[in-house]
Amino acid sequence: MTPALNFYNTLTRTKEPFSPLEPPKVRLYTCGPTVYHYAHIGNFRTYVFEDLLRRVLNYFGYEVEQVMNITDVDDKTIKGAIRDGVTLDEFTAPFTKAFFEDIKTLGIEEVEFRPRATDYIPAMIEMIQKLLDKGVAYKGNDGSVYFSIAKFPQYGALSHLKLDELKEGASERVANDEYDKEKLADFVLWKGYDKERDGEIYWESPFGKGRPGWHIECSAMATSLLGPKLDIHCGAVDNIFPHHENEIAQSEACNGCHFVKTWLHSEHLIVDGRKMSKSLGNFFTLRDLLKKGFDGREVRYLLLSVHYRTQLNFTLEGLEAARHSLRRLDDFIERIQAYIPQEDGPVEGLIQVTKEKIENALADDLNISPALAALFDFVRGVNLWMDQGEIGERGKDEILDFLHRLDHILGLFRWEKELDIPAPVLEAFEKRLLARQEKNWAEADRLRAWISSQGFQIEDTPQGPKLKK
Ligand code: AMP
Ligand code: ZN
Repeated sequence: MTPALNFYNTLTRTKEPFSPLEPPKVRLYTCGPTVYHYAHIGNFRTYVFEDLLRRVLNYFGYEVEQVMNITDVDDKTIKGAIRDGVTLDEFTAPFTKAFFEDIKTLGIEEVEFRPRATDYIPAMIEMIQKLLDKGVAYKGNDGSVYFSIAKFPQYGALSHLKLDELKEGASERVANDEYDKEKLADFVLWKGYDKERDGEIYWESPFGKGRPGWHIECSAMATSLLGPKLDIHCGAVDNIFPHHENEIAQSEACNGCHFVKTWLHSEHLIVDGRKMSKSLGNFFTLRDLLKKGFDGREVRYLLLSVHYRTQLNFTLEGLEAARHSLRRLDDFIERIQAYIPQEDGPVEGLIQVTKEKIENALADDLNISPALAALFDFVRGVNLWMDQGEIGERGKDEILDFLHRLDHILGLFRWEKELDIPAPVLEAFEKRLLARQEKNWAEADRLRAWISSQGFQIEDTPQGPKLKK
């Protein structure tokens, strides 16, 4: 029996037992990238956290239906397209493509829906029209349509802002996609066309030429693909206000029901105490790190290894440490795969204890650190048994099976070795280890020579001899 999942819900500011509306289905919406630039690894921290969430939900028996949208129209993409003198599509296509390549490099699983905002403009227009009809939205004298936060008394519930603070700003309006709490005000749903600013980028609508505001995009894509009620909605903490607050207001005012049960927000990746961001210029893209010789798995490990509600301070040393941890795991996996079964020892007990520790940790709001600690304890324990020849055929199978199941959650292990090295070579390698233990040097040399005739080399490392191509 797996334990019950508990998540920290930003809406209630408490850790709650997770119960989706229609189990085992989980409707999950995750705000995707704005494709005006290559995503940086701060962005990817959030996507790796969401990937862990998705994998844990699946492991615990839920059927996840996830949307990760692509924001291909907003202030920033339009600005970029105008600057470069290209169409919006031409401008966003390479960044969208790069994003999909990057998430693959990071071992992030494919999700069910990856809508582009520009494919959902009619759904956005429909929602805005409903909001106008209900009197919660109004047309401004600048050709834009605004949401009136005074007409939505629950406004501020997610970010825990007080209503009296809100009333002061309620007469103000803000037409930008991004703004901060000081600018608490009615926000834009449809931005009226301005030739100078928007060039040829606009859509026709019943309320005039223009384009959607960023916030309505997510509400419309979520409602179109998952329905008006979601189980989980995620993003990083900077999305809480105004983006998610506005999503709630629009969706609930339009659809007349509670929008999201559980809100999960990841803390930022920071550099020298400041949020990694494009505007501060203190960012690394994944590609920057690949150029420095790191690989996607190392970056994934680093991003995954700190609990999502704790800030993660990015350093290259941290990435080196991630490399080191992965090397230990790789050595272990390589060794257990090549291990020649001997006496059957008591492996079930250790597997069970490790499984329970990892499941309990992850069920507790994705508490990754104790889960990884349990994994490394397991590695230590099994290595010791292998040293002593205390694992038999069944034990080896059980260990490999357990590791494969764990990897559905972590997406970290490297199994290629299984394919790269032919079984007879692995067997000879293990036989040679035994021969050496028995001080049968002649046999050990004979096996080494045979292994090398098959194109493989034996290297001595601090962790013991290893096979290399
Ligand atoms: P954007 O492309 O700017 O819309 O951001 C995409 C996602 O990355 C959003 O969910 C942001 O909240 C998140 N994000 C941006 N900067 C960071 C950071 N330094 N650490 C973690 N997540 C971030
Ligand atoms: Zn969003």
